[in-house]
Amino acid sequence: MRADLQERLKQVRAALARTGSDALLVSGPADLFYLSGFTGDSGVLLVESSRVALFTDGRFTVQARDEAPHAKLRIVRGPLTIGVGQYLSSSRRCVAYAPSQWSVASWKVLRRAAGARLRWRAADGLVAGLRTVKAPVEVDTIREAGGIACEVMEEVIGMVRAGVMELDLAAEIGYRIRRKGASGESFEAIVAGGPRSALPHARPTSRRIGKNELVVLDLGAILRRYCSDITRTVFVGRAPTRIRRWYQAVQEAQAAARECIRPGIAAGEVDAAARRVLDRYGLARHFVHSTGHGLGLEIHEEPRLARGQERLLEAGMVVTIEPGVYVEGTGGIRIEDDILVTANGSELLTRLGRDLLEL
Ligand code: ZN
Ligand code: ZN
Repeated sequence: MRADLQERLKQVRAALARTGSDALLVSGPADLFYLSGFTGDSGVLLVESSRVALFTDGRFTVQARDEAPHAKLRIVRGPLTIGVGQYLSSSRRCVAYAPSQWSVASWKVLRRAAGARLRWRAADGLVAGLRTVKAPVEVDTIREAGGIACEVMEEVIGMVRAGVMELDLAAEIGYRIRRKGASGESFEAIVAGGPRSALPHARPTSRRIGKNELVVLDLGAILRRYCSDITRTVFVGRAPTRIRRWYQAVQEAQAAARECIRPGIAAGEVDAAARRVLDRYGLARHFVHSTGHGLGLEIHEEPRLARGQERLLEAGMVVTIEPGVYVEGTGGIRIEDDILVTANGSELLTRLGRDLLEL
């Protein structure tokens, strides 16, 4: 078995022992990949004290054998949930599971199939917790995914001009990300011009970019399952003083948050550092989301860099720093980078200029 998988399973088993459970049922795709290497889109993993079973259906027999050779393969005919439940029904064990990975409907089916003798223990975040601290090979992949995102950002910024449709720029982003060897986008890219840039999660539309307006571009690449995430904001034309001031505020807030990243600092402290700067500019009320999020197999992971979060950052965590200012009717500005927490500080994984570009 791959040494990293062996180590991860060892940690999961130690965590299971602490909670008094005999096994862990994993259905979230990111957790499943993390513990098995399997990438098929239908699968459930059962981690027991001395073995691992992968439940999937006939479409994935070859793939599962190939990607997860250490797992005992169980090909289920019919609904996967019923197959898993029936397998478990023969025992009296206590099985840990993550409620957030099950729909109410599937959970009911699973419980019914597993019968009344089995005991369940809700254990959300058990694997997600392990995933927050990345191994060097995971960091290398995110760094590479970050490099692709930076290249695409630079190229697409070069295409921003009055008259271009948001959707056309979004299509360029998706195409270029794949051409550079990534498997896809971490999320549907955000391209938002003018007043629409004031919507932090605007979807690209057929609206054409106008003269003298802000454009927010937020994109990410998935490389070998790992995500990157970067945002830049540009101005089409010459930016008025008010916009320059907002931009400066966001840039300073982002730098302040980046500079305080190190092991041992609370996630909420990083958020507060960004908010303090925006407050000084009288813009804190226009910063309507949290400062950042963990990044890895999923685009949004633990830790959350948000108000009041007490979780301490650890070396090996990868987070985004993305403060923003959004003024309804006028526009928004966000600057986002991916950062690795290192033993003595941090390392920037998305290296691309952040000064205001007037196009
Ligand atoms: Zn983003
Ligand atoms: Zn983000």
